[in-house]
Amino acid sequence: MLNNEQILTWMKIYQEKISQNKQTLSDLDDVIGDGDHGNNMDRGMTAVISDLESKKPNNITESFKLIAMALMSKVGGASGPLYGTAFLEMGKTSKDSQDIAELIAAGAKGIAKRGGASMGDKTMLDVWLPVADEIRHESLTNEKIDGFVELTKNMQAKKGRASYLGERSIGHIDPGAESTGMLFKSLLESMK
Ligand code: ADP
Ligand code: MG
Repeated sequence: MLNNEQILTWMKIYQEKISQNKQTLSDLDDVIGDGDHGNNMDRGMTAVISDLESKKPNNITESFKLIAMALMSKVGGASGPLYGTAFLEMGKTSKDSQDIAELIAAGAKGIAKRGGASMGDKTMLDVWLPVADEIRHESLTNEKIDGFVELTKNMQAKKGRASYLGERSIGHIDPGAESTGMLFKSLLESMK
């Protein structure tokens, strides 16, 4: 079960991680994209925290909606609408269930539907989907998250900007997978 206070804690931890690692994220994006992923996410997460703190949503559905709107309007790029959709879908699902496994699964499904990617296409979905499975089995760990992120290294990008590189996209971690890894490590940390 996820409560409203925990969402704020989760987002604060994530915002800090993004801010500390934005250069790493942009460096990853520099190699197989356009080098803006760290700044995109940092701008988005700064807006998320500022909105959560000023608007003080009082239930998890409202919190998810607010997070989704901030990400959609502030992150930009391909990843903004995708992260935004994930949180929007979690918000819709939260009206019926506050079970974390169901919420994360709904988010992953939203990204798949909006972006049209499948497992193995070297995108953030390569972390969202297996993480959703692990949460369902209550077996998610930081090491498993690192493993899912690392697996994107040897994939060839089939979606997004990195796909323009064809085989040259192989050998580099996907930036969206890396930022998604941070999102779920933050979730684990918030549940301690
Ligand atoms: P842009 O590529 O527009 O510069 P970002 O750099 O912010 O946007 O985000 C790039 C990330 O977005 C990629 O690393 C990948 O994980 C993710 N991404 C791109 N296209 C898709 C898609 N169709 N489905 C899922 N994720 C995607
Ligand atoms: Mg980019």
